[in-house]
Amino acid sequence: MASDNPFSTSRLPSPDVHSSSVEMEVVNNLDDVESRQRSQDSVSAKFCTLSVEDTVRELGSDSKKGLCNQQDITYRRSVHGSNELEGEEDEPLYRKFIATFYGDPMIMLLIGSAAISFYMGNTDDAISITAAILIVVTVGFVQEYRSEKSLEALNKLVPEQAHLTRNNATETVLASTLVPGDLIHFSVGDRIPADVRLTESVHLTIDESNLTGETKPCTKQVETIQNVQTSTNERSNIAFMGTLVRDGHGSGIVVATGDRTAFGSVFAMMSSIEKPKTPLQNAMDKLGQQLSVFSFAVIGVIGFIGILQGRSWLDMFQISVSLAVAAIPEGLPIIVAVTLALGVLRMAKQKAIVKRLPSVETLGSVNVICSDKTGTLTQNHMTVTKVWTVDMKTSHLDIDKKGDYSKQLTKDIKALLESGNLCNNSKFSAEKDKYLGNPTDIAILESLHCFGLDDARNSRVRSNELPFNSSRKYMAVSTHLGDKTKSETFAKGAVEKIISMSKMYINKDGDIKPLTDDVSKLVLKMADDLAEDGLRVLAFGKSSKSFDGEPSDLVFCGLMGMNDPPRPSVAKSIASLIRGGVHVIMITGDSETTAKNIARKIGMPLTDSDKCVMTGEKIDSMTEEALAEAIQYVSVFARTTPEHKVAIVRALQLRGDIVAMTGDGVNDAPALKLADIGIAMGKNGTDVAKEAADMVLTDDDFSTILHAIREGKGIFYNIQNFLTFQLSTSVAALSLIALSTLFNLPNPLNAMQILWINILMDGPPAQSLGVEPVDQEVMNKPPRSRNDKILTNAVLKRVGQSALIVILGTMFVYVREMGDSVTRRDTTMTFTCFVLFDMFNALACRSSSKSVLELGLKNSMFNYAVGGSLIGQVCAIYVPFFQSIFQTEALSFGDLIYLIGLTSSVWIADELRKFYKKRASSSTYGYSVSV
Ligand code: ATP
Repeated sequence: MASDNPFSTSRLPSPDVHSSSVEMEVVNNLDDVESRQRSQDSVSAKFCTLSVEDTVRELGSDSKKGLCNQQDITYRRSVHGSNELEGEEDEPLYRKFIATFYGDPMIMLLIGSAAISFYMGNTDDAISITAAILIVVTVGFVQEYRSEKSLEALNKLVPEQAHLTRNNATETVLASTLVPGDLIHFSVGDRIPADVRLTESVHLTIDESNLTGETKPCTKQVETIQNVQTSTNERSNIAFMGTLVRDGHGSGIVVATGDRTAFGSVFAMMSSIEKPKTPLQNAMDKLGQQLSVFSFAVIGVIGFIGILQGRSWLDMFQISVSLAVAAIPEGLPIIVAVTLALGVLRMAKQKAIVKRLPSVETLGSVNVICSDKTGTLTQNHMTVTKVWTVDMKTSHLDIDKKGDYSKQLTKDIKALLESGNLCNNSKFSAEKDKYLGNPTDIAILESLHCFGLDDARNSRVRSNELPFNSSRKYMAVSTHLGDKTKSETFAKGAVEKIISMSKMYINKDGDIKPLTDDVSKLVLKMADDLAEDGLRVLAFGKSSKSFDGEPSDLVFCGLMGMNDPPRPSVAKSIASLIRGGVHVIMITGDSETTAKNIARKIGMPLTDSDKCVMTGEKIDSMTEEALAEAIQYVSVFARTTPEHKVAIVRALQLRGDIVAMTGDGVNDAPALKLADIGIAMGKNGTDVAKEAADMVLTDDDFSTILHAIREGKGIFYNIQNFLTFQLSTSVAALSLIALSTLFNLPNPLNAMQILWINILMDGPPAQSLGVEPVDQEVMNKPPRSRNDKILTNAVLKRVGQSALIVILGTMFVYVREMGDSVTRRDTTMTFTCFVLFDMFNALACRSSSKSVLELGLKNSMFNYAVGGSLIGQVCAIYVPFFQSIFQTEALSFGDLIYLIGLTSSVWIADELRKFYKKRASSSTYGYSVSV
């Protein structure tokens, strides 16, 4: 089953995130929830005992036209509000801000030290430390607030939709606009957008497990329920908000919206549960803890030695605490969260909506993409281009949408078109002046006009229907003339299916002839011929009696070939993915020949057809291990059902592959859940598929997956870059103080200066490294192994190199300036030296492999962050108020030039490292590989 929450995947409860406090909160909420549930139960309990007519009357609606009066609708909305589930009310900002003070023990210690300074008469120190604390806390708070806001924005990326009839016109609208009394429709794969009293139900089965816990889908019907005391799962004529249509279709009148639905109370309970963290975030938390322990140990030693040396204990205390604040990158987890969330928002702009943050990380590791053909690799814009009937023998009739073929309308073609017309579920929208629905069905209806025929569905009443789905591979309907006379069955679908149900065929004069083995062979050969052109082939049949269960004894009418051109950018994207070591696999329900043809058109490697193409039938005959062995060569799976997708994902995962799998139908949900990245189609996908997926493509385009993978990889490298920056600053600051204490030198930086360095390290400059635009070259790098550490040896070497240069350079300035005693000028020079080193280091950390000269000024956030930091530093040195806080004095222009020259060494050294690395890789590979 898909997730439990209809509105927000990121609010889903996760079994491993139940913190005890959250559980307590949920328990405390339960009483309230139960009483709300009782009152909400009464809405559906009442309407399930009313007939359709009474429901319609009670709600002032119409079971065919829906609500008709706009004023009335506006009034209803003002009474019932928007059809949305309200989460908990947000804590006021000021309370959150205050909480950051007592949430961090280091800040509490700093406040303590400010208080002691004040008590001992060091008012200057007390004011400075207080100002610094305020700045540190505000920067941290703003970062966290931004992270929360970006996460909230993620929740709104996939809006709920509903198919609504008002004033006799049906359209797709945002589910939030529904009001009680509205007439809505739903079909297989849809999520029910409100609590609904059913007025129509065709094979309607709904999965209510997320509401009632009942895993077996419930069959729904329209009849009134007599028993007044029904439990939720006995209300078979009510469809509940958030539940998922597993089969069939239906319509109904909305009886409750938003918090008044049965789901409202469950939602209230869920929204108080914490969001899960991604593995990377957890790794960062752990890294933060390890660094804290390490820093504390070093700081402890520094403090101890300092006191042994007879330094003022208050000074040592202040230095130690500020050092603790600076050395511990407490901003690390927040920056990771913001980087991930901003990355996700960027992906959303490129039409890939990532529903769960951890998927961003997995994207960079994907090494196999399994994609549906229809609609993802192709445009899903079908046109019938060829028609064939048995009497045409080995030729066929080419048709063009704009042509007139009414003269060629022989009786067999007429039967074929009649079958395609009556066995069809697409609807005409007068408003949009076009057909809406399944593209295959639309193409058939459009072809009627070429033969001068009109849609005849209004002249007959449908008595039975087997809807099309990818496992069944055909659709069938029974119809009669209203008075139950002249019952007939019409079917259309995959050739093998229709042929296996047919015993006769119709010729051009309308005579019914036996479908001999030779004729069957001819049919299959001609279907293959059409598929050879890359066409999707459908067969048609009819019979003069209705069917129960499955149709049989059909009269075969003929074939249609439909053209569905590949999407224009797909070939380029596939080439790019293959270059980056990603194995692309096409999975389709279409025939082997059609699939192979399309695959060739889009540049998929099919060197050896025997090995590269496999059918669903073959999968069935193989063990999981055999499939895992064979699958490394396969590029196309044809005639598959959604169940085969599960076998394919399993086989790939058995090989250790990281699999992305696309899907759109209800039955695709298990494969989407099983895949490392399940990708649902936003336009043509069902709600069930979207629910099960980790990512939704709003344009259904395969190329969007490429963009998402590129972003995913880029985000990972950006995180490595700001980690390099933070760690090298942290190590340098700690070592600097440790060394000067060891050598019994006065402290080179005072508490306020250390805190300012902390703001640079944890604040905007670091954050801006997380939004560095993604380098297009990342796609040439192989997928990252899932177990790859974020702190690789290469990252640690970079940290070491930069930290060493910063320590040596700053120590050099300090010792050179010091002379006999330490003056304000000396600390100002040392402080400015460290800050400038840090800025050049940030510049070097923008990319692990590319020169800054190649990167240019593209990252505007970085430009602002570094620009702002430099202005801040200038203020700290030259503005009297800040001079008193930071205990600095003005430096000369010459001093600044000297410091800039010296500190740029950290950047120049990194440029040299990049240059030599590039040269080494191009002499190894013949071209440069950036890692
Ligand atoms: P995918 O989307 O996975 O690439 P597909 O859309 O090409 O697959 P299916 O939708 O499973 O494959 O279709 C399989 C076969 O079912 C088609 O080759 C066609 O013969 C038949 N078919 C497709 N659509 C319909 C329909 N609306 N009604 C009846 N038969 C259909």
